[in-house]
Amino acid sequence: MQYFSTNNRNHLVDFEMAVLQGQAEDGGLYFPEKVAKLDAGFINALPHLSNAEIAYQVIKPYVGSCITPDALAAICNYTVDFEIPLININADVAALELYHGPTLAFKDIGARFMSSCLSYFSKNNDKKTTVLVATSGDTGSAVANGFLNVPGVDVVILYPKNKVSYIQELQLTTLGHNITALEIEGTFDDCQSLVKQAFTDAEIKSHLALTSANSINVARWLSQQFYYFYAIKQNQNRPAIMSVPSGNFGNICAGLLAKVAGLPITKFVAACNANQVFMQYLENGTYKPQQAIATISNAMDVGNPSNFVRIMHLFNNHYNLVKEAVVSYSISDAETKATIKDVYQKYGYILDPHGAVAYAALQRYSPTGIILETAHPIKFNTTVESAINTQVPMPASVTNLLRLKKDALLLPKTYETFKHYLMQR
Ligand SMILES: *Cc1c(COP(=O)(O)O)cnc(C)c1O
Repeated sequence: MQYFSTNNRNHLVDFEMAVLQGQAEDGGLYFPEKVAKLDAGFINALPHLSNAEIAYQVIKPYVGSCITPDALAAICNYTVDFEIPLININADVAALELYHGPTLAFKDIGARFMSSCLSYFSKNNDKKTTVLVATSGDTGSAVANGFLNVPGVDVVILYPKNKVSYIQELQLTTLGHNITALEIEGTFDDCQSLVKQAFTDAEIKSHLALTSANSINVARWLSQQFYYFYAIKQNQNRPAIMSVPSGNFGNICAGLLAKVAGLPITKFVAACNANQVFMQYLENGTYKPQQAIATISNAMDVGNPSNFVRIMHLFNNHYNLVKEAVVSYSISDAETKATIKDVYQKYGYILDPHGAVAYAALQRYSPTGIILETAHPIKFNTTVESAINTQVPMPASVTNLLRLKKDALLLPKTYETFKHYLMQR
């Protein structure tokens, strides 16, 4: 399988190059030259296959000969080595809980797959690789966890001071070993521009072998297909309508790819908060990026979703085909909180703010279906506890985390200081 850049169909690379580069040099996103269609036998056999076997079958055509079959099987085993259950909230709606991985968010799946691919590829070069990652909360810890104690790889995480939750900060700053956390006196955008600048700095690049671990990497995107198959595998008679909490649209775009490949999903609901450029696109056919608006479902505060262009490619730029596959709704913070409260009171199920947006959006379209629960409610306990008036039970991993001490290096947002730090490593 070859990948082209969404800015240039003639610029082709293999899976390894696409993963190592992250983004094409012309600024486009990598996209597979064809969708790997799945045969009906595989779909029918889903209930009898293990999650790791399903992952292997789904990803194999996209990896091609870049990873040996044995190594790919091991990577798949590791990637989905935790529960991904479909839980009935009530008789009509079920939640696919994607938050049982080490950092309690769905990003663990894509990040574990990508980090194992990167370490596989880096085995062939003897230079130590440094992964730079800017995070607004969930991505950094998922990526860092995937690389923890991987020989030959160092991870440097940049996060904005005072702008991640307490638990998120502990997840970023307590790993130790080959993981370093830099607490930047600035915003997420400042962190991201420091990383971007380092990637274009020849002096740094001759000193360190830098790799990016951003969300548009094909290894993250393609592996996020896996759990849509696990939803269908566990689903009994419920209509296969999937409501996906969406920000950068990587998650839903992976689901759409699985649908185009043959997975029987009837409809996608792109569940958004106040950031609603995609909904507006579906309404009038024009895509107008906006400044992000801050909400309580902050992992979806994105005003210019980077995977929009991939969705357009998937449907050959046919507006009508996109409209046939996806509907979208915008849910306010007030409705998000009311949904958390209502679902808890009626059914005793605790939603996190992102899952609550998905639940409320599903209700606008259909009384029944499946929502994706993308984070554990404990990660947003302040919001959730004020809505349900009771404490969120704490998973054991968080109890352990609370005993650890934060270890981060505080840096100003100036590029010179950051560069000086990297040149000393
Ligand atoms: C990142 C994230 C999302 C948004 O996913 P996209 O792929 O960017 O659309 C939703 N929920 C949570 C908890 C997240 O961390």
